[in-house]
Amino acid sequence: MTTPLELEEKYRVTVGGAVVLLPYTLAKKQTVYAELCIFHDEEPAKAAPGSHLCPACIEWLRSALTDVAKYWPDLEDALAPAGGRAASAERVGGTGDLYPPLPINGEVSDIMRAARRAIWLTVGKLIQDRPEQRLPLDHGTGVLADWLARWHVEYLATHPSVEHVEAVGWDLAKIARQMREAAYQSPPIEVDIDGNCHQLMINSRGERVPCTGKVSAWTQGDGRVVIRCSLDITHRVPADQWFATAGRRTPRPNRAMETLKKKYLTGRKA
Ligand SMILES: [Zn+2]
Ligand SMILES: [Zn+2]
Repeated sequence: MTTPLELEEKYRVTVGGAVVLLPYTLAKKQTVYAELCIFHDEEPAKAAPGSHLCPACIEWLRSALTDVAKYWPDLEDALAPAGGRAASAERVGGTGDLYPPLPINGEVSDIMRAARRAIWLTVGKLIQDRPEQRLPLDHGTGVLADWLARWHVEYLATHPSVEHVEAVGWDLAKIARQMREAAYQSPPIEVDIDGNCHQLMINSRGERVPCTGKVSAWTQGDGRVVIRCSLDITHRVPADQWFATAGRRTPRPNRAMETLKKKYLTGRKA
């Protein structure tokens, strides 16, 4: 890590009539943005100032990233319908003997691979362009998509390489649609629980603080129950795990909690 400049990707821009290759920050200053949004061939729309995209497409990009984050856990669940540890699909370089072979849903697995690839390509370029960026601690695809949606949509929409914006946009459009379709094959049922989220969130000053979200239980089409937070779609744990944690955090587990526990953990091994 002695020559960080060598790692930076260079972008082709025209300065004083000559084409030069510059790293992101310098290239962005020299970038000339077209007047029209790049995503409307038939009905031209004015791009936002200093951006390749119109305001509607900027919001669309944000919601596509949010969708990837939102549907990622659903696809993890759908991946191993027999009730296995689908989350292990994101682990790489393991010993391979932690979990027995599972019946894997091949279509879902393909969609997840495409989503992971698209998100990592986007994140990879972002790190090259802006090496000062700090990634979330959790490098899961859903978490990274959520991170991009929250903080880096403008970076994408104003990127000096219009080809990059275009490629990311088309990729995400396809992937978000496929993920949504796969997720809705087993629509979840939501049930309110009187409980607080136990995870951390990042406040406006960038500090990690306890999440103030409320949780609800989601029963998926396959019967599995997960506990989800009202504020952050990436805050989500299997019901048995959540009740175990909630039990430890509540000094005197109340009757309602016991009832819920019975209701949601029926048929599961203790
Ligand atoms: Zn547009
Ligand atoms: Zn939360």
